[in-house]
Amino acid sequence: MNNLTISKLSKTYSNGTQALNKVSLDIPTGMFGLLGPNGAGKSTLMRTIATLQEADEGTVTFGELDVLKDKNEVRKIIGYLPQEFGLYPRTTAEVLLDHLAVLKGIRNSKERKEIVEGLLQKTNLYIHRKKKLSTYSGGMKQRFGIAQALLANPKLIIVDEPTAGLDPTERNRFHNILCELGENTVVILSTHIVEDVKELCTNMAIINNGEVLLQENPLRAINRIKGNVYSKTIRKEELAEYKRSYNVIAERLFQGKKVIHVYDERDPGKGFTPVEASLNDVYFTYIFGAAAQ
Ligand code: ADP
Repeated sequence: MNNLTISKLSKTYSNGTQALNKVSLDIPTGMFGLLGPNGAGKSTLMRTIATLQEADEGTVTFGELDVLKDKNEVRKIIGYLPQEFGLYPRTTAEVLLDHLAVLKGIRNSKERKEIVEGLLQKTNLYIHRKKKLSTYSGGMKQRFGIAQALLANPKLIIVDEPTAGLDPTERNRFHNILCELGENTVVILSTHIVEDVKELCTNMAIINNGEVLLQENPLRAINRIKGNVYSKTIRKEELAEYKRSYNVIAERLFQGKKVIHVYDERDPGKGFTPVEASLNDVYFTYIFGAAAQ
């Protein structure tokens, strides 16, 4: 199976914003989570791999394929689900998918019919195939997005922030489809939802300000900070003081009080209690730069 290998990829936009700074990642078959806050550079990275924009420096290879040079070859094997995609609202899913299949070069109408029906079934849209896309829910639209991304049997699938606005059932269904794909394809899931990565991905990277802060298996990443995360309930007014004195990596309100998590390699004492580390803690530990890197 082919790995997607990204090496020292950099991109600065014409307004001077550096979106990617020597990004290197080795992505094997399976679900790969790309985590980072808004503005981290995730979409820039995704669009570059999907041949939709140019990098300034660096290389991307997929097996034998030079992704940045052999754009036409890449387009044949890639499925891309962008954050937002236009739908023709008055068309039905069946008609649009058939049309997109023609554009993908599937000319034989019998073959096309089989492929389109198969994908509608796979994404649980078959019973809705004759409905206009304007009547689709957010989840149905996302699943349609997956169906179109799968048209040419892609070997590399890129999904950019897919679950925003989906209800839990729709999110679940969407995840199941992605998981199934990850069994024999490289699937890159770009998201800022840490939970999604924990549930779905065997590998992940955290990026911020265009730089890779961590690439690891999520469970191993949790293990790495195990024993170094402590919690304490404080008054809201005390937060600023605590932030000055400790590596506060998370804060949430609980019944009018603040519960904070801190990262510390030694027991901070003073009423802090050790807590089970989560992927959220990993994420914020790296984003806030508290962990030794
Ligand atoms: P993410 O997907 O993680 O939110 P992006 O790749 O969209 O991050 O953006 C990374 C950085 O590049 C941000 O600072 C963003 O404002 C900037 N950026 C993105 N697209 C452009 C563009 N076309 N022109 C200038 N700056 C951009």
